[in-house]
Amino acid sequence: MMITGKSIIGNELAGSSDSYIQAFDPSSGNILQEKFFAASEQEIEKAIGKAKTAFNTLKYMPDVQKAEFLETIGNEIMELADELVERACRESGLPEARIRGERGRTVGQLKMFAELLREGSWVGARIDTAIPDRSPAPKPDLRTMLVPVGPVVVFTASNFPLAFSTAGGDTASALAAGNPVIVKAHESHPGTNELVSKAIIRAAEKSGMPDGTFSSLNGVGYSLGEKLVTHPGVSSVAFTGSFKGGKALYDLAQKRERPIPVFAEMGSTNPVVIFPGILSDASENLASQLAGSITLGAGQFCTNPGLIIALEGEHLDGFQSALSKSISETSSQTMLNKGIFENYLNKVNDLTSRKDLDIISKGSEGGELAAFSMVTRVSGTDFIKNPHLHEEVFGPYSLLVVCNSKSQLLDVLNKLEGQLTTTAMINQDDIVNYTDVLNEMRDVAGRLIYNGVPTGVEVCYSMHHGGPFPATTDGRFTSVGTEAIKRFARPLCFQDSPEELLPEALRDGNPLGIWRTLDGKLTQE
Ligand code: NAP
Repeated sequence: MMITGKSIIGNELAGSSDSYIQAFDPSSGNILQEKFFAASEQEIEKAIGKAKTAFNTLKYMPDVQKAEFLETIGNEIMELADELVERACRESGLPEARIRGERGRTVGQLKMFAELLREGSWVGARIDTAIPDRSPAPKPDLRTMLVPVGPVVVFTASNFPLAFSTAGGDTASALAAGNPVIVKAHESHPGTNELVSKAIIRAAEKSGMPDGTFSSLNGVGYSLGEKLVTHPGVSSVAFTGSFKGGKALYDLAQKRERPIPVFAEMGSTNPVVIFPGILSDASENLASQLAGSITLGAGQFCTNPGLIIALEGEHLDGFQSALSKSISETSSQTMLNKGIFENYLNKVNDLTSRKDLDIISKGSEGGELAAFSMVTRVSGTDFIKNPHLHEEVFGPYSLLVVCNSKSQLLDVLNKLEGQLTTTAMINQDDIVNYTDVLNEMRDVAGRLIYNGVPTGVEVCYSMHHGGPFPATTDGRFTSVGTEAIKRFARPLCFQDSPEELLPEALRDGNPLGIWRTLDGKLTQE
């Protein structure tokens, strides 16, 4: 399929401006030939205008029709076969097996949301029947359910060119809720974005979705993103990427005349606390597990373990030697793009020039945009003093924080900002001896992992991939799993509504057969 470099505005292609970007192959260092033209002002207006019109149909569309649309997107993505895999590999430098796995995850996510829609209870229908003769005042009939919010702008991530990109979890959940989506194409994989966008449009046409249900715009620099976030026709924003980018877009959205939510997932250091009991049992095993997680995918995961926290002692020395050996045996790995690579080098150089930090181990160097792995060490005292050391280093890097007492360990945890995950490596003795520390860890993150590594985010009903600020802008919501749909829906309450004006989910007799809360009791009646 030919890559045109044009933006996709509902069912039409557009690209009238002269400014463009080109994709880059991080493995070879070559610029790819196609030009991706920035959407003009008129094209941006058109995409938002179409989205608003499409919303008038989408918001009343039965869940089963949206489910069919999502499944058809999955089928169309699979139809792209090797062309998509090859393009995504070229633009990201990620290995083929990883991209194939990510494609499976993307299609699986779409199917999962389709399943959620077919089951139907996600709307959270709650009904309180009227008590007209209640004294002193009658009780009205009240019925509430979730409804879509309107056009959603999706900023995609560089590190998952499929699963957190054009047809990724944000797009899937926003469409599932009944919203049109406008994707801001990531400049790291514009060709992959175009292929997937066209697959979405084909699916939209096959499933009878209105024109404007989906658009994808190319831009040069930040102006496109800024225009989308500040446009009065946009109702909500999803973002995955850096703290700087997410916070800038969040601030813009709050300054609008009508502020809108920005659900930004901005990464985290994912502290792993290794307790003394488990350290004495299994230090070598822990070291190799952690080394694998630190270096997986060149460390380019939002759940990469960037901090390892432990109490000093002879078992820690054994663990440190084993970790050092594992890391020193790692090869350098190509990173996603020049910006991320340079950012990694600058941060690591800056950190290793500090007197309070020791390098424990470094992997081999060499290769185009290829990052070496590294682990450094700092005392708990210095870590507490220097908030700069608490920041994420995006890449195969981790900092071992060595505490001199349990109270210092508690202090370190207290100083941490919000995280996506935190991990406790424990044995039975640790559960008894460190209950206070384990309790403290509950306040740190959105997901608490026991005896496992943080990399690997299961897509399912009970996943929570979100955490207190600054891991995300709103820790009440997840960007992975079925609950992600709640970001793009709002409750609407109908009071004393005529039966024929009620959505099916709230009607008497429960025609959809969904689970609902009826007069305080969960029922399918
Ligand atoms: P990013 O730089 O935050 O960019 C994400 C998207 O937001 C891109 O489309 C970018 O536009 C746009 N954007 C960023 N700042 C903006 C601003 N101020 N105004 C308008 N639009 C803006 O993330 P990235 O490119 O994926 O990776 C860069 C860094 O993000 C990494 O070094 C890493 O620290 C972090 N990161 C975190 C995660 C995570 O899971 N949370 C994932 C990947 C990366 P352009 O395409 O024009 O740049």
